[in-house]
This record gives sequence, structure tokens and C-alpha cells, in this order.
Amino acid sequence: MTLATADLETLLDRAPAGVAVDGFRIDETDGGYALETPDDEWHDLDEDALREALETCEEYVTNWRYWQESVSGEGTGRRAFLRWCEHAPIPDAHGKPTESLAVPERYDALRDGIDRQWGQLSITARFVDIDEPDGERVYDLWHVDDADSDLADLEVYDDPRDAREIATYDDDGRYRPLKTAPTLVSGWAFTGLSGADLVETVGFLYPATIANWHRELRGNLDVDHWTETAERQTGIYDVIDELPREAVDWMAEACCVDSQCLRRREWEYDEDDELDVDGGDGPFPCREPCSLVVAAARKWAVLESEDEHTYELELTTSELNQLEELIDAVAEGRTDEIREADVYDGANRYRARYLRAKRIGEDGLEATQVDE
Ligand code: SF4
Repeated sequence: MTLATADLETLLDRAPAGVAVDGFRIDETDGGYALETPDDEWHDLDEDALREALETCEEYVTNWRYWQESVSGEGTGRRAFLRWCEHAPIPDAHGKPTESLAVPERYDALRDGIDRQWGQLSITARFVDIDEPDGERVYDLWHVDDADSDLADLEVYDDPRDAREIATYDDDGRYRPLKTAPTLVSGWAFTGLSGADLVETVGFLYPATIANWHRELRGNLDVDHWTETAERQTGIYDVIDELPREAVDWMAEACCVDSQCLRRREWEYDEDDELDVDGGDGPFPCREPCSLVVAAARKWAVLESEDEHTYELELTTSELNQLEELIDAVAEGRTDEIREADVYDGANRYRARYLRAKRIGEDGLEATQVDE
């Protein structure tokens, strides 16, 4: 296969300004052109000799055209993300490349498709034309749970804006206030997206994750810790800076762990005071307490302002254990999974109703305050 004339002409147009991507370089020199790939070098080439030499490194030429002409945007999060999709080197904060696949390895892999996971998203980068690749890539996107599904069994979309609707409700039709909660519905696919459309679609499903991931990669993620965020709140959220220090730990454990949110929490109580709870392992960072956490913090700030008391109530040991099981089942979102017949589970609906019938009267739980 010979190179497309248009590719060669575009490349020769760009050569005087210098061409460089993925170890492929063309420089104009006094003696003509110098051409370099990771495997070979040519010097003092006139235009015809350069054309001839370029015919021997077709993969590098089409790879150059894809990244420099189709994608472009040097230094942007969009470009870095698309390169991450195929394990192409991306410069980190020190200019050192992360990821490692060289062009020939990537070309081999892109024929079959390269799979990557971004939260609950499975992304496949592949060539448009698998038999005679001209360097153009497209991207398929679906839920990780559907990775082995037949496309015919999925709802197939191609407009990034359709992702908004997909991200709005969970499997039970409940609104998802936190888009990075691990509750994204499955059963859909976007196929054959351009790079720009892939980035836009991911942006609807997981807003700002690409930009923040890229900032972190470049070493310039600006983190706003709890105290900064809390102190700048006004109006009804003004109270959240009164949340006790230890309650911020409990809050992070309640909301920010991997089971509840796929962002990796990078914010702490403040710059010199780390929270005890692990920030998680998500691929994309969380740079500040989100609106869900701020809204919940308002409630906790009010609750934590109440005085504690000692109460006396009568429970059997099993009933005490059952209270723990009930709280645990609700906290883990497990109540829907507990079968009605499973009366051995303390959070079973009949067990809970029995406890309520026995211990919670018309005036509520029969507990007596024993302190002043
Ligand atoms: S603050 Fe916590 S819950 Fe909110 S996005 Fe960040 S990690 Fe997720």
C-alpha cells in the first residue's frame, strides 16, 4: 500500500516548521531534510528522496496525520485522553512520558481494538478501516457490565447529547445527584465516535473528569480542601464550617469512598491535616467537596450541633444486633437484595416490621432519657 498523496503533500507543507510526534521527525536542514523514526534515520534528503523514504514508514506518517491534523490540540486534556485510550505516550508534569506503547505496537493493537476502563465506562479505540488502516481512529463506548454483550442487545447511540439522559437516572429510575456514583445504568452503547465526540460523551457521563485527570497529570490540579470550601459558603450553607473535625472524616467515609463515588478524593481537611479515610483508587481525581457533600454537610452540621444524651431502652441481644444489621443494609444499599423469605437477615422486611411492632409504639421508640 502506498501513502495517500494528500498525506505526503500535507507532511511536506509542514516539514519546514518541523514535524515531530511519537518518535517520528522531519527537520529541514541546510542539506535538505532529515527524517527520523525510532528505528531509522535519513539525512540530506531532497524532496524526492524524502518522499521515497516516507513510503517506507507509512505507519508513522498516518499516525502523524491522525494526531497532528485530525486531533491536534497539543497540550489539551482532550488530546491526552485520546492518547491514554490507546496507551500512547503522554507527557507528565516533568515532560516524562506516561503510558508506553510505540507506534507499531499500537497499530497492531488498534486493528483488534484497545480497551480501557474509565470508571464504569469501557472504551475501545480502533481503526476505522481495520483491513487497510489509514490512521483514522474511532471509539466505542459502553458500560463495563456490557463489555461481553452483543451490540444487538444494546440501545445504540451516536449523538453525545444522548449521554445526558443515560446519566440522569439509575436502574430504579431514581435521579442520580452524583454523576460519578457507581450507579450508571447499563444496556447502551455509542459506536464509531470521533475523538471529539468521545470526549464530549464522557463529559456528559462524568463531568470534568478528563480535565481534572489531565490537570493532575500535568501537576497542576488545584485542590480546595474542606476548610477552604466550607469557609467560602454563604446563605443556607454558611453553617457547614461548624461541622466538627471528626465529622468530616465520617462524612468522607459516608460519601467519598470507592463504593459510593468513583472519583479519587484528593481534598483533605486542610493542607496540613489529612483525613483518616482513604481517598480511593478512582482513575480521576476529586479536587474539592462536591455540591452533594456540601448539601449533606449542612444537615450533619445541624445534627452535630445537638447535645448528646444517654437513653435506656429494652432490647434483646438479637434485637441490638438487628439494629446494626439494619443500619448496615441501608448504608450499603442492600435492602432491595434481601429476599422476603430470608428471615435470617436482620434487615429482612418482615424482621424489621416485627421489631417495629414490638419496640416502636405510637409515640416512637420506647426509650427513656436517663441523664439531665
Ligand atoms: S466530594 Fe466525595 S462524593 Fe463528591 S465527587 Fe468528590 S469524592 Fe465524590
